[in-house]
Amino acid sequence: MNGKEKGINLEDHQGKKKNNKLFLHLKKWLEKAVLDYDMIAEGDKVLIGVSGGADSYALLDLLDSPMIFVPKFSFLAVHIDMGFDPDYVAYREIEKYFQAHRYPCVMEKTDIGVLAHSKFNRKNPCFLCSRLRRKRIFEIAAAHGCSKIAFAHHRDDIIETLLINLFYGREISTMLPNQTIFGGKLRIIRPLAYLQEGLVKKYSRECAFPTVKNECPTSGNSRRSYVKKLLDQLEVDNPQIRHNIYTALSHVKPDYLLPKPKR
Ligand code: SF4
Repeated sequence: MNGKEKGINLEDHQGKKKNNKLFLHLKKWLEKAVLDYDMIAEGDKVLIGVSGGADSYALLDLLDSPMIFVPKFSFLAVHIDMGFDPDYVAYREIEKYFQAHRYPCVMEKTDIGVLAHSKFNRKNPCFLCSRLRRKRIFEIAAAHGCSKIAFAHHRDDIIETLLINLFYGREISTMLPNQTIFGGKLRIIRPLAYLQEGLVKKYSRECAFPTVKNECPTSGNSRRSYVKKLLDQLEVDNPQIRHNIYTALSHVKPDYLLPKPKR
């Protein structure tokens, strides 16, 4: 379904949101991240990726709430079905939610997930899967005049990506809160960058978002799940471990890293 794009108008939404402590906390830190990293400018049109998971519903909901400091912008939600469920139960559930809230949206059915698990690609389905999904999202953003794409990656995703890249990719890097792609034509933004996964999930439960089960056979068995479990174990001895890793990401001392060998 192609929806009509709408601007976020403070007055349209006044009174709609709860003013509970958790909502205010998440809103405060979302706005801070958006401002700290210059994620949104006046008049921007943002494509919001909604997978149907708790984090993506929370992102959509929080971005569709009255902003205090963030400039006015409009948005379009996008859902890409990965093709795991022939009955499209999740697809229909998400579509219903968008319609109930009158969210402008793009819904698309694909076979990306199935393709990524084909016999020619058994080794690392996630790599191909995320590559193809992203490519399609970029195409949709360009087709609808969106200059920014918002993903629901939170603080814990950023920490886990650092470790995944370190353990398996032999590099020190992670997801950026505001990332330029295609020579500056598009930007990926991550407004949940400061938010802890536990709080985002709690908010999602409190709001009773109609979250859908991830039907992917790899989910729960991926490198990300492994790293998540590892961090959980380390957190038992050091409750600050996630916070420390996140903080370290902006305390890099290049002089104390190995220079690239000359040959
Ligand atoms: S866990 Fe499944 S849906 Fe997620 S990126 Fe990997 S293959 Fe794709």
